[in-house]
Parts: sequence; structure tokens; C-alpha cells
Amino acid sequence: MKMTEIRIPDLGDFDAVVVVEVHVVDGQEVKENDPIITLETEKAAMDVTAIHKGSILSVSVKSGDRVSTGDVVAQLSDASSLLGEATNQPDKAYDLAVIGAGPGGYTAAFRAADLGLRVALIDKNNVLGGVCLNVGCIPSKAFLHAAKVIDDSKEASLAGIDFKSPVISLEKMKNWKNSVVDGLSKGLKGLAQQRKVECFQGQAEFKSDQTIEISLENDRQEIQFSNAIIAVGSEPASLDFLPDDPRVIDSTGALEPKEIPKTILIIGGGIIGLEMATIYSALGSKVTIIELLDQLMPGTDKDLVKPLEQQLEKKCEAIYKSSKVIAAEANENGISVVLEIDDQQQQQIFDQVLVAIGRQANGNKIKAKDIGVDVNDNGTISIDGQMRTNCRNIFAIGDVVGDPMLAHKASHEGKIAAEVIAGQKSVMDIRCIPSVAYTDPEVAWVGLTENQCKNQNIDYKKGIFPWSASGRALTIARNEGLTKLLFDPKTKRVIGGGIVGTNAGDLISEIALAIEMDCDVSDIALTIHPHPTLSETVALAAEVFDGTVTDLYLKN
Ligand SMILES: Cc1cc2nc3c(=O)[nH]c(=O)nc-3n(C[C@H](O)[C@H](O)[C@H](O)COP(=O)(O)OP(=O)(O)OC[C@H]3O[C@@H](n4cnc5c(N)ncnc54)[C@H](O)[C@@H]3O)c2cc1C
Repeated sequence: MKMTEIRIPDLGDFDAVVVVEVHVVDGQEVKENDPIITLETEKAAMDVTAIHKGSILSVSVKSGDRVSTGDVVAQLSDASSLLGEATNQPDKAYDLAVIGAGPGGYTAAFRAADLGLRVALIDKNNVLGGVCLNVGCIPSKAFLHAAKVIDDSKEASLAGIDFKSPVISLEKMKNWKNSVVDGLSKGLKGLAQQRKVECFQGQAEFKSDQTIEISLENDRQEIQFSNAIIAVGSEPASLDFLPDDPRVIDSTGALEPKEIPKTILIIGGGIIGLEMATIYSALGSKVTIIELLDQLMPGTDKDLVKPLEQQLEKKCEAIYKSSKVIAAEANENGISVVLEIDDQQQQQIFDQVLVAIGRQANGNKIKAKDIGVDVNDNGTISIDGQMRTNCRNIFAIGDVVGDPMLAHKASHEGKIAAEVIAGQKSVMDIRCIPSVAYTDPEVAWVGLTENQCKNQNIDYKKGIFPWSASGRALTIARNEGLTKLLFDPKTKRVIGGGIVGTNAGDLISEIALAIEMDCDVSDIALTIHPHPTLSETVALAAEVFDGTVTDLYLKN
């Protein structure tokens, strides 16, 4: 008979904690979350609970014993044995199987292992890290760093330093980017090994609500689980009418360029499209951006996007808004496209076309529907505040549960799902998730935006500090930015904020913390920020709202 060990979860700073009560005896039937033992630390009492239903095979502790993180307290018949001895019984059983090893999946797997669960982590790729590490956040930021060095060297002439035009070795740049990715990837592998998380490579599909089939080429194996987390992420959305040609690429192709195209059309003016425009324009391509809606980064407050748009206008060949591509064909000179701009059609030819029109969740690719999980037509999976799907032992996290499709959201959700499965009372109880475009200038926002306040009739007042009055912004010759805080006019609490400018992505964390901690205007304005820094602009925006700012003159 297979069995599950119930272990002491992560006790943080506590060690050798006293068992004050044992609630079960050998042979007793228990349900999921039934208490097995109660522990008492100096601070609180805590139950260690059953991970799933089953019968207690043996209890390893008695009242008065002292236990530490990871100690086995009882053995529980495995969920599989509840089904009787099925034919073709899989030989591997886990407390938790995680499908997808992106930032959501590996975080969930690691947290669950830290809490004493036996964990399987499955990915079709032979490396951990998912989209974020391998073809998303990290490689794009490596290229964006290279782009910034190139752009900064041009701007240095303002300060009297003239560099020659850079000589770009694309191969060396790619090798450097890959070395960053490889280093992090090896780190993840080591972290999985240290935690004894068992990693499987292969395409995973549900066979039942307790079995997953993993296939890699002609090999197939099944593993059994008590709980599963679906963390299969998303993939780039495509346009059916574009030709199947190596010169038509998505973000993955754009981050592994074979050459620097002389001309490139970027379809989609969202964050990924604009980050790519920043990279390719710095590398020397003539970049054209086409966006269906009437602004770049649709949905983002216009005042935050404007300084970025002004910079991109200088760097790009053309930016078309309220426009679309309606046809395309591949020929020997490039990809010939028909653009519809201001209701007029025009034909243009590009060396490459990059499609960045959004991402599609992968929920429909793992046979989750077949076992009763609610999967929407667009591939997203519905969950509750504890990341649980409509099936009790199946959870979903990250891009596959929908917007915002961001790595830090995925990993936060991963931790919650793991903790819930380990019997903790965790829940997604957050005020805000920051968003960042790592363009030049960067654009970042968190909490409510002005657009959301207006659309949802939420009363707000704002304080804006223009970076043209920031000493630090002037010394780095990047004074086009602004910092904006939104306040509840009654309580004067911070409800949102946005920053456009150099390092906005780092600066936004202070506003996120302010929202999380319920700070009001004086908490921020009275916090002494170091001078001269860009972070000062957050305090100065609060002062603007408060009417106390001395770095500007505000007319009453
Ligand atoms: C170019 C680009 C830049 C980005 N930049 C940022 C950024 O700067 N900041 C940010 O927060 N976000 C960024 N993102 C988004 C971020 O990458 C995703 O939000 C994040 O990776 C989602 O994590 P996840 O764990 O949900 O899934 P993913 O990272 O998508 O991982 C899912 C994993 O599941 C595996 N998988 C899928 N199906 C199966 C199956 N059937 N069997 C086995 N394995 C399977 C996949 O191989 C993959 O490894 C970027 C994305 C792109 C494309």
C-alpha cells in the first residue's frame, strides 16, 4: 500500500517545539485538513493537519515530544489506496504534482517542499524557469540593458563626452544574455535538488483527478498525486493571416535574433512590443510600430505614456495608432504587408515582422477539462482566493489564471497554493500588483490608475511632481519623467500611483508598500528621502497633493 508522510511544516525560527495533543490513533480514518497533532510555541498553538483523506497507518509522536521542521509525525494511507489497487498502478506518488516550472510553478514546488510535502515538478522543457527566465523577463532585460548602454553612450555627448558609434557583436551579446539565463537556470536546478523536489521533463496531461501522464517523445509514464497545481503559463497569441516564414517572429524569436534586421514592423504597442522597439532601435533597426487602439500601452494613464511615446518617436521610423495590418505575404525582398492607417490602405515591406499582440493562456492543453476543471474558451482557469479550481485537490496559478500576466503575480500565487495544500490558511489578500514597462524611459504603475478611477466613478485627487524640477533627473539628463500619486480625498490614503522615467520600475515599490500599508499623504511626505535622488519625487508628489511643496511654486 502506498502512503504519505505527514511532516512538521516550516516552523520559521522555532525548533524543538512541544507536541501538546495527538488527535489520532493508528487505523483512524481522517478527512483532508483534520488535525493530527497540536503544537505549542511561545507565541501560538498550531495544528498539523491531514493532507488528504485516508487512514492513519502509524503515529510517530506522543504528547510531550519535541519536534522540528520536517519531522514525520504520522503516516497516512495514500490517496491512491483509497481507489483500491488499480490496474496499471503508477509507481510514483506525490503529495503535490506541479505542472509547469515557470516562476509560478517552481515557487509553488519549492514552498511546498519547504513545508514538508513530497513534490513532483513537471515541465516540457529540460530547464526550469519557464517563459520568464528562458524567453521572457530575464533575456529581454539583458537586451534592454545592452540597448541602454548604446543609447546612453549617444546621450553622453550632452555632457561633453563623444563616443564613436558602437560596434555590435550580436553573437557575443546573445552569448552574454544566454550566460545570464544559464546561471540562473543552474541555480534553480540546485534549489530543486536541495529540496528533493523531483523534476520530470515531458508534456503533462491529466488522466484523472489523481493521475498525470508525462510523455517525452516515445516514453510515457504516470505519476499519482494527492494535489496538483496547474502552472502551465501562456504563449504568444498569433495572427492567422501572417505567412509561415522565419522572418515572421514572436517575442521568443526576437530574443534569439539570427541577425539585426534593417527594418522591422512590430505589431502591437503593448509592453512587450515597446520593450522590443527599445531593443531593436538601439541595435540599429528601423522600427515601425502599429497599434490597433488609439494609444500605446492601451489602458495605461496617458500622462505616463506620453514621455515614452515622445522618446520612441525620436527612435522609431514610424508609430501608427488606431491602425492595423490586414494582409501579409512573404517574398524574396521581405515580408510585404498591407497596413490600414487612417482608413487608408498602404503596402510596405519589412525585413522582419514581430507579432506582439498579447498572450494566450495554456489551460486547454493539459486535458484539465476532461477531469472536470473549469477552463474558459480562452484557456484561462477560474480559481478562488486560495488558488483552488472547482476541483478540490486541483489548484491553478500564474498566467494560466489570467491577467495580469506577470512573473511576480505568478510566484506570489504559487506560494499561496503551496501553503493552502500544506494545510495553512493562506489566501490571496493583496491590495496591488505593480506593472512595469522596462522601456526607456520606464513606465510603472500600481494600485488604481486615473483611468480606473474615472471608469469606476471612484473619487480621487492627485499629486504630480514633474521630473523637470528634480535635481537628480537633471543631473542624469533625463528630466522628461513624472511621479504621480492618487489619494482618497476623504482619508488622504494613497490608492494608486504611477511613474514614468529612468528606474521607474524600481521606484514604484515604495508606492506599492504605501498602498499595502494604508499610508496617507503625511506618511510619505514626512518620510525624509535622500537628496538628490529620483525617489525624492515620490515624497514631493505627496507634498504637491498636500500643498506644502517648496521645490515648486503652486498657484492657489
Ligand atoms: C518577452 C517577455 C517579457 C516579459 N517580461 C516580464 C517582466 O519584465 N516582468 C514580469 O513580471 N513578467 C514579464 N513577462 C511575463 C512573464 O514571463 C510571465 O507572466 C510568467 O513567466 C508567467 O509565469 P507562469 O509560471 O505562470 O508560467 P510560464 O513562465 O509561462 O511557465 C509555464 C511553464 O509550463 C510549461 N508547460 C506548459 N504546458 C505544459 C505541459 N502540458 N506539460 C509540461 N509543461 C508545460 C512551459 O514549458 C513553461 O515552462 C514577460 C513575458 C515575455 C514573453
